[in-house]
Amino acid sequence: MRLGMKATENDIKYLPGVGPRRAEMLQKELGIRTFGDLLHLYPFRYIDRSTVVPISDIVPDMAYIQVRARVLSRELYGAKGVLWQDGPTAGDTAALPETFRFTSVKRLRVLVKDSSGILETIFFKGLKWTFEKLTPGKEFIFFGKPSIFNGHVNLVHPDIDDAPPSSGKMSAEDRKKTGFIGPVAITGIYPSTDKLKNSGITAKVMNRLQAAALNASLIDIRESLPDHILKENGLVPIHFALRNIHFPSGQDALAKARYRLKFEELFYLQLSLLKQKYIRSRDEHGIRMSKVGDAFNACYKSLPFPLTGAQKKVITEIRDDMKSGRQMNRLLQGDVGSGKTMVAVLTALIAIGNGYQACIMAPTEVLAQQHFKNISKYLAPTGVRTALLTGSSRAAERRAIHEGLEDGSIGIIVGTHALLEDNVIFRNLGLAVIDEQHRFGVEQRSRLWKKSSCGMPPHILVMTATPIPRTLAMTLYGDLDVSVIDELPPGRKPVLTMHATEGKRQALFKFMKDQIALGRQIFVVYPLIFESEKMDYRNLEQGYEQIVSAFPFPPYRTAIVHGKQSNEDKKFNMDAFAAGRADILVATSVIEVGVDVPNASVMVIESAERFGLSQLHQLRGRVGRGSEKSYCILMTGHRLSNESKRRIDLMCATENGFELAEEDMKMRGPGDLEGTQQSGLPVSLNIASLAKDGPILNDARRCAQAVLEDDPDLSSDKNALLREELRKGKYQIRDFSKIS
Ligand code: ADP
Ligand code: MG
Repeated sequence: MRLGMKATENDIKYLPGVGPRRAEMLQKELGIRTFGDLLHLYPFRYIDRSTVVPISDIVPDMAYIQVRARVLSRELYGAKGVLWQDGPTAGDTAALPETFRFTSVKRLRVLVKDSSGILETIFFKGLKWTFEKLTPGKEFIFFGKPSIFNGHVNLVHPDIDDAPPSSGKMSAEDRKKTGFIGPVAITGIYPSTDKLKNSGITAKVMNRLQAAALNASLIDIRESLPDHILKENGLVPIHFALRNIHFPSGQDALAKARYRLKFEELFYLQLSLLKQKYIRSRDEHGIRMSKVGDAFNACYKSLPFPLTGAQKKVITEIRDDMKSGRQMNRLLQGDVGSGKTMVAVLTALIAIGNGYQACIMAPTEVLAQQHFKNISKYLAPTGVRTALLTGSSRAAERRAIHEGLEDGSIGIIVGTHALLEDNVIFRNLGLAVIDEQHRFGVEQRSRLWKKSSCGMPPHILVMTATPIPRTLAMTLYGDLDVSVIDELPPGRKPVLTMHATEGKRQALFKFMKDQIALGRQIFVVYPLIFESEKMDYRNLEQGYEQIVSAFPFPPYRTAIVHGKQSNEDKKFNMDAFAAGRADILVATSVIEVGVDVPNASVMVIESAERFGLSQLHQLRGRVGRGSEKSYCILMTGHRLSNESKRRIDLMCATENGFELAEEDMKMRGPGDLEGTQQSGLPVSLNIASLAKDGPILNDARRCAQAVLEDDPDLSSDKNALLREELRKGKYQIRDFSKIS
C-alpha cells in the first residue's frame, strides 16, 4: 500500500480474507478491484430476522419470513403414504419404535401452531435429525419462504432455531445462541455466482468481507453530495448510508440508506442530462418562427378528418417551442396509429410558412416511401414542392434534388440516412423531423444540425411509436421535452389477440381463409434475429412455402418481403399488398414500423415467444387501422419460459402500449436478474431501478432542475462538489442508437 493513498483505492487482494486467488475471482465475476469497489456492491435483497409473523398473516407471495410456533404433530411419509404419526392428530403421543428405519421415509410433515393458527412445514432431507429436533410441544423459530401446495400455504425446509424466552430481555448468551433479534437482524444478500461460491466466497464470507472493507476504508470516503442538497431533501450522510446499506440497524435505517443512494445516483444522472439542456437553451438561440403561415392553413382546411384533441394539444406545444426564439428539441411519443404523421406535416408547414425548409427522416426505405406518399397527399392543396431522397434514388434525380434543396425550391424533403450525406446542402433548413428515433444515433442527429446554413440550428422533432415508460423517457431523452399523443383517432376497433400453438395450425389456416373470403388481408410475420440470419431466413422460406401450399394460387395471392431482397423487389411486394393485389404478406419484422394497410385485419406472428413485448405491440399495431374487426394471433411453441408466457398473456390482456412498456421494463428489471442490474439500458445504474424507483426519480429530477435553474454552470461555491462529481463522467449516457 502506498503512503497517502486512500484505503478505498487499495487492491482488493489486501483485504483480510481475500488474497490473490479470491481477488482474481472477485474481479472476474463482479469487476471488483478495490476496497471501494466492494463497498459499492450493494445487497440486492435482505433477510429480515427481526420480526415474527403470525401464522394467520402468511400469504404465499411473501419473501422470507420468521414464525415462532410450537410443534403440534409429525408425520413420516413413505412411498405409499403415512408410515407413522404422532401428536393430537394421532390421538396420542406415540413413540417411534426402536426398530424404525428412516431409509424408507420420503418426507416429514410437521404441523406447528402459534396463537393465530396452524402451519404446515415439509422436509425432504435430514429427516432423522429434523424429526428428533422437532418434538411436539417444543417451541421454535422457523425461517423460510412461504410456498403454496395443494391450495394451502406451507414452509418447505425452513431453517429451525430454538425459540428464545418470549418475555423479558434476552440475555447476551441467548442472543448469541439463537442468532435471533441481534444487533444485526437484517442480513444483506449480495449478487453472486457459482464460481464465487466455489472459491469460498459464500454469502457469509461476503458479509464478513464487506465488514472488513467498511472498517478499513469508510473513514476515507468523502461526502458526495453538497450539504444544501442533503438538507433540502432530507438525505442521510454517505457514511450512514454505506454502513446501513450493508449492515442495516433496522428497517427504517435501511430505507433511509437506500433512498439516499438511489437519490444520489438518479440525481447525478438527471443533473448531467439537464445541464446540457439548460446551457443550450441559454446559449443557443433558435430560429424564431412566429407565423403559422398560409401553407399550414391550406392543409389544415382540407384535412379529411378533424384532428384529435391530443394532436391539437401537441401541435400547440410544438408551435410554442418554434416561436419562442429557442431551439426546439422535442420528443413526440404516440402509439402506433395515433396520427403522428399529421403532426409532422403540420409542423413542417410552420417552417415553410416562416420561409424555411423542412426534412423528414425515416429509418428505412420502405418507410420513407410510405411517408412520402402520405405526405404528398396532405400537401397537395398547399403547393409546396416535396421530394424523396433515399439510397436508391437515381443519379439524375439526385442531382435535381440537390439543386432544389440548395436553391430552396424544394420545401419539404423526405428521406432516409441518405439525407445526412455531405453533398446534401440546404438553403435554409429550419426543421428536422426524425421518425423512429431509436434507430438514429446521437452523432447522426448532430450531423443534421450542421446542415443549417443560416447560422442557427434547425428545430428538432423526434417521433417514436415505441411507448417508453416515463422514467425511461426522462433518462434516455432527459435533454428533450416530451409530448405525448395519448389518444387514438376515433373509430378504432380493438384488436382481438389470441395465443395458439402448432396444434391449432389447421384451424388457423381455416380462419385465415374465412377472413380472405370476407375480403380482408393478412400479415404473417417471422422473427428476425441478426445473430443467425441464415436460420431466420430458412424459417421464413419454410413458412412461406407452407403458406403457399396451404393457400395455392389461384385464388390466393401471397407476397413476401425480407431483408435479402433488392429494394425493387421489396417495393414491388409491399406495393402489391398495399394495393390489395396480394391477400397475404409473409414478412420478417421489417414491417414492424410504418406500413399502413387499413384493409389488413389479421396479424399472425410466428414464434411470437422470440419477440419482445414492445416489438409484439408494434406488430399488432399494423392491424386494427380500418373499420373491420381485427385479430392478432400469437403462434408459439408448446414449451414457454415463464417470462415468455407472461409476455404472451400480457399481449392478450391489454392493448395499451404504455402499460405494456411499463410491464416490459418491470420484467427486465433487477428482480429477475439475481441482483445484477438492468441490461440493455444506456446507463448502468448501481442501485436505482427505472422500473421501480419512479417517485425517487421525480424527486431527483426536480432537485436537479432547481439547482440548474439557480446556477446553470454549477459555478457557485456551494455546487463545487457537483461539478467535480460530474467531471468524473460516471453519469454519462452511452450512445443509445442501438437500443430498440
Ligand atoms: P402513426 O404514425 O402515429 O402510427 P399515422 O400518422 O400513420 O399514425 O396515422 C394512422 C392513421 O390514422 C392514418 O391512416 C391517418 O390517416 C389516420 N389519422 C390520423 N389522424 C387522424 C384523425 N385525427 N382522425 C382520423 N384519422 C386519423
Ligand atoms: Mg408513423
